[in-house]
Amino acid sequence: MNYWALYRQCLRAESDEEARRIRERKRTPKEERPKCGARCRDGHACRAPAVWDFEHDRPRNGRCRVHGGLSTGPRTEEGKQRSREGARRGGLVAAERRRAMLQGKEHAEDGATVSR
Ligand SMILES: [Zn+2]
Repeated sequence: MNYWALYRQCLRAESDEEARRIRERKRTPKEERPKCGARCRDGHACRAPAVWDFEHDRPRNGRCRVHGGLSTGPRTEEGKQRSREGARRGGLVAAERRRAMLQGKEHAEDGATVSR
């Protein structure tokens, strides 16, 4: 893929002409765009700019590229469903583990009773 084709894809433009129009469209100046604001490891708010959606001239989701700005979550219904199921499965696994742990504790207590 050549440079211009890639550029068109980035702008989601159908043609070079459209890409040029999008490029020249009035956009919010960089210094007026919001900052990420995520809490960094040392406690201060992230000062990196939020990932910008040039098509709509607004932030994608308000976060910078290292704080989730590049991902806006599952898009397709299939993807969303998979995401929900993953969460549910995770919950079931955790519940199973909790049960096993509690049973293990009871066994240990039984053992202690026997040895007494
Ligand atoms: Zn950030």
